[in-house]
Amino acid sequence: MNDLKGAIKQANKIVFLTGAGVSVPSGIPDYRSKNGLYAGMESPEYMLSHTCLTREPDKFYQFVKENMYYPDAEPNTIHTKMAEISQQKDVTIITQNIDGLHEKAGTKKVINFHGSLYHCYCQKCQMSISAETYLQSNIHEDCLGIIRPDVVLYEEAIQESAINQSLSAIRHADLIVIVGTSFRVSPFCNLTDYRNKTAQIFAVNKEPIFLPYSFEMIESDATKVFAEI
Ligand SMILES: [Zn+2]
Repeated sequence: MNDLKGAIKQANKIVFLTGAGVSVPSGIPDYRSKNGLYAGMESPEYMLSHTCLTREPDKFYQFVKENMYYPDAEPNTIHTKMAEISQQKDVTIITQNIDGLHEKAGTKKVINFHGSLYHCYCQKCQMSISAETYLQSNIHEDCLGIIRPDVVLYEEAIQESAINQSLSAIRHADLIVIVGTSFRVSPFCNLTDYRNKTAQIFAVNKEPIFLPYSFEMIESDATKVFAEI
């Protein structure tokens, strides 16, 4: 842990790669884990798919509204500590989370790899719509088009701009810290293949993760680790 603190102090360009484990302490369940909110419900893979949005837009909307949005969730120690570090260093956060909490904590350079629930738009006229408005209705009053959140659904591709920005940040980083993710979902977990070979890599996660290159594993609660940084 002291090593991570020292590495952060010495680094110039830092990339944090964050996953569900960073949001759980803010009260947002990990929908992929077996103990997540969706155990026993209709498959979240279908409810969060492009097919469901297209064929059953109201069903999609109900599911997303009731299960994905936590507008009252607040950033936790991990988010705020990363935001603090970003005041002093060149920090880019690449996150799998779609809850907007890194932005809420004040980090400027956040790449929402899977999009964000807090960026919504009308599929008919493309106008951007606030999440607040979307949570009241999925129909755009002006044109009667269907509003959707700008998140990557199952069957949809990651946005090219997110990939390009991520690769650029990864290539230039001298320190990469993987936090709160088992780092198994592709293509997110492939990002580090594009690292500078001299970059130092740390992983902070409750369960050990396995990577095909050398890195330092901190097998611990990320909230505790970041509280002490
Ligand atoms: Zn519209």
